[in-house]
Amino acid sequence: MSAPGARSVALRGAGQILRPPRVGLPWLRGADLAAQTLTGGDLGWSDGVLSEGPLRSADLELDVPGCAVVPGFVDCHTHLPFAGWRADEYAQRLAGVPYNEIAAGGGGIRASARALAAASDQQVLAQARDMAVEMLAAGTTTFEMKSGYGLSREGEIRALRLAAEFALSVPQTTLSTALLAHAVPDGYDAAGWMHEVGEMMGEVLDLGSVSALDIFVETIAFSVSDLAAMGALARAGGLMLRTHVEQFERLGSVPVALTAGARSVDHLSVASDDDVALLADAACAAVLLPAAEFLGAEHRAPGRVLADAGALVVLATDANPGTAPVVSMPVVIGLAARLYGLSPMETLAACTLNAAWTLGLEATLGSIEPGKRADVLVLDSPVESIAYRFGRNPVAVAFVGGDPVYVRDDWVDRLGVRS
Ligand SMILES: [Zn+2]
Repeated sequence: MSAPGARSVALRGAGQILRPPRVGLPWLRGADLAAQTLTGGDLGWSDGVLSEGPLRSADLELDVPGCAVVPGFVDCHTHLPFAGWRADEYAQRLAGVPYNEIAAGGGGIRASARALAAASDQQVLAQARDMAVEMLAAGTTTFEMKSGYGLSREGEIRALRLAAEFALSVPQTTLSTALLAHAVPDGYDAAGWMHEVGEMMGEVLDLGSVSALDIFVETIAFSVSDLAAMGALARAGGLMLRTHVEQFERLGSVPVALTAGARSVDHLSVASDDDVALLADAACAAVLLPAAEFLGAEHRAPGRVLADAGALVVLATDANPGTAPVVSMPVVIGLAARLYGLSPMETLAACTLNAAWTLGLEATLGSIEPGKRADVLVLDSPVESIAYRFGRNPVAVAFVGGDPVYVRDDWVDRLGVRS
């Protein structure tokens, strides 16, 4: 990685620079979504911090005519690091075998748990690093990662330790979430495992690397009362609460999650009108995962309705070896635009500032405004092209903290540096 001596950077003549309607907004919802601006011009930063106005001169000058300049993507829901893949299961699902049947036969989360247990630390870290490289090339400058494939006390602590070690080896900003209730481990019932989770909280907090707890609320996993209990553990530990809810079965999880103080309700594929009404003005993110819905042929979250109601809409990959082996935010943007009918501005807000809020990082990153960290992407085409040229990656350069940590091959000479 090198931008030798580039303490200051100036991007000149951009076709579009995406900015929020006002500085200091924690999120973009309702009227603020449409009020984002896409004005051409210059953008600069010094020492990794975005400047008030354009720089008159800079150590690194880059002409970007016809390009869009947007905040780095924040992928607030991934299941990295994990071990191996489950392409065989996808083939089964394509042939019509339901996920519940695959899970009952030892597949699904349990298959990934076995793979994680069998893999060495180095194998797990190497696979995750390869994925982080792909994510960076697709514009992801910040991502969250969940445990959940440990399926034992020792396994979960190991997964969280691996996440902390992995975080040190990638240029992106990462956050670690303890998904301590993902599937009910063998030898336990849900209540017994939740008791175990309570017992292990001291060890989880002692790691010092975990910022949130998470739970999968589903008939094949944990109940809404377990969700309330997980909320109490998060509060007691000073951690955020993230939740997997309303993915396959309508269980009424959203009101319980809100009462439990959840920072986000993720999936929402079968969310009800009542859920939408509750989320309309809640300080809780509605994290939609269209890749999981598309690849799983699941129900479709009411994305358009949520956005129109004023909910805090967020998009993420759900990158995991089972239901969404997808790491590209441009692909997710394309899916969300088509499946939910979101506009380019709405999709971008959903994976930048709104996703940063979901992780508690909105004060320092997630939007292009003076004083924020220069996590910035140069796209080789207008923002409207991300969804339109579906599946194509438009990222030419990705800056993290002002440094060009990814430079596409055909841009190396223009930039004068190689990532
Ligand atoms: Zn997930």
